[in-house]
Amino acid sequence: MHDLSKKVALVTGSSRGIGAAIALLFAEQGAKVVVHGRDREALAAVQATINKTGGQAMPATGDVTSFGDLEAMRGRVEAEYGAVDVLVANAGGSTSRPQPIEEITEGSWRADIDTNLTATFLTIKSFLPGMKERGSGSIITMSSAAGRRAHAHTLVAYAAAKTGVQILTQDLAAQAGPYGVRVNCIAPEMILTEKNQLQQIPQEQQQALIQSHPLRRFGTPEDVARAALYLASDDSSWVTGVILDVNGGAVMAT
Ligand code: NAD
Repeated sequence: MHDLSKKVALVTGSSRGIGAAIALLFAEQGAKVVVHGRDREALAAVQATINKTGGQAMPATGDVTSFGDLEAMRGRVEAEYGAVDVLVANAGGSTSRPQPIEEITEGSWRADIDTNLTATFLTIKSFLPGMKERGSGSIITMSSAAGRRAHAHTLVAYAAAKTGVQILTQDLAAQAGPYGVRVNCIAPEMILTEKNQLQQIPQEQQQALIQSHPLRRFGTPEDVARAALYLASDDSSWVTGVILDVNGGAVMAT
């Protein structure tokens, strides 16, 4: 099931969190994985874990908001591993906080759009031409439940960027399908990563949050990784342009 052997997979932002779980699972399924991020020590740790279980991985650094960095990384990856078959544009996130829209600073707005929407565009721009030329490829982008429904206490710029990622994914799926390239998006919610720990949520809020998920628990990076594996593999060969909610049923977008 979900065999990725002979595939080269790049997972941006895989030095930790969801990206690291995706990189580990892809390597387990036989992919040669490019682990990417900004923290060299963390990348080396993910690479070592993959190598320990007999998997193959190379580290790559670079800022995903810089097209120059992405192009340089693509050159290194293609020289060492060959062309990328599976691209997971996972790097992203936000340092903003929920606040009234008129109080959001221009800098904070631009940072969220850059880190999430522009970075996803630039990552795709770098790797798509090769995929179209070869007539195959699977691209997975990363949205968020924040991009699936409006809420008064959301991170507005982050949510707008993630909704942008969704339509970018679908426009691209429409453009790239005739070239044999599939493009899908995952929208996770409340995933417990190293950065997003249960201890940070006040005890009294935890139960209410759990109750807001029909499946009555928070998500794990591995929950997202298994969804990414399906979309990366040929088992989803008739699936493109999909926004896959991985959220325990917390948001059911129609
Ligand atoms: P994380 O903060 O734990 O890891 C983010 C990774 O992206 C790190 O490796 C970091 O180095 C990298 N990164 C960020 N900006 C970068 C840049 N400009 N250049 C290069 N690398 C960069 O994040 P996570 O929680 O694992 O989230 C991964 C993705 O999933 C993000 O796109 C995030 O928005 C999305 N997401 C996460 C959750 C959640 O609950 N954790 C929920 C919804 C969506």
